[in-house]
Amino acid sequence: LIEVKKLYKNFGSNEVLKGLDIQIKKGEVVVMIGPSGSGKSTFLRTMNLLEKPTRGQVYFEGTNLADKSVDVFKHREKMGMVFQQFNLFPHMTVKDNLMLAPIKTEKLSKIQASKVADQLLNRVGLSEKSEAYPQALSGGQQQRVAIARALAMNPDVMLFDEPTSALDPEMVGEVLAVMQELAQEGMTMVVVTHEMGFAKNVADRVLFMADGNIVEEGTPEELFDHPKEKRTQEFLAKVL
Ligand code: ATP
Ligand code: MG
Repeated sequence: LIEVKKLYKNFGSNEVLKGLDIQIKKGEVVVMIGPSGSGKSTFLRTMNLLEKPTRGQVYFEGTNLADKSVDVFKHREKMGMVFQQFNLFPHMTVKDNLMLAPIKTEKLSKIQASKVADQLLNRVGLSEKSEAYPQALSGGQQQRVAIARALAMNPDVMLFDEPTSALDPEMVGEVLAVMQELAQEGMTMVVVTHEMGFAKNVADRVLFMADGNIVEEGTPEELFDHPKEKRTQEFLAKVL
């Protein structure tokens, strides 16, 4: 589904991604871990064309995202993105937040979008909040709405950038539970997180990124229980 080849990204003289090679299959759940500043967010943003690769290729469903002819907006419709900050539209109800993109892009009619929104809110356990405004919701509820909103476009892949990092501890679990369910339903997911429990339980593959490189990758067992690289061992010693 996704094939990244020799991906480089510079910000001025700062080389942030140093030749990443990553493949992600349909239905796979890939968790990225690594120290602050290692380039995890930049990588996700490149996938979503929020950043332009300096060099290298990112193939998504066979299309090279670095090609100038790629329609950025069409492409983004196929990728759901969830950030640390929930970024809901504050002046719209929860349900309108979910309905906006599908209607605006003419993907769904108003009636269809309403139906999809109801289904998704039910799925994330927030049916009773559909007419509420975001500020009336807890952080965990807002993030579940943000996930539902991304799903409303029926994306082929979901990208998560530290989706629980801004939450109070007691709300982390409810968001991870929604993500785990999504994974079990077969969604292709790339998740940057510091939640090692989630990585162990849900990931098919874990990538350890440091200083713009994938230092090591493997199954959760391989990476957490038998890390080969010294950098991985040092990082895990700090976070586990
Ligand atoms: P964290 O765990 O703190 O979120 P990260 O692994 O997501 O870190 P990035 O946010 O990708 O790291 O940042 C990697 C490097 O790129 C940092 O040195 C950062 O300062 C730099 N960087 C990121 N975005 C920009 C930008 N828009 N302009 C200039 N430099 C940037
Ligand atoms: Mg980041």
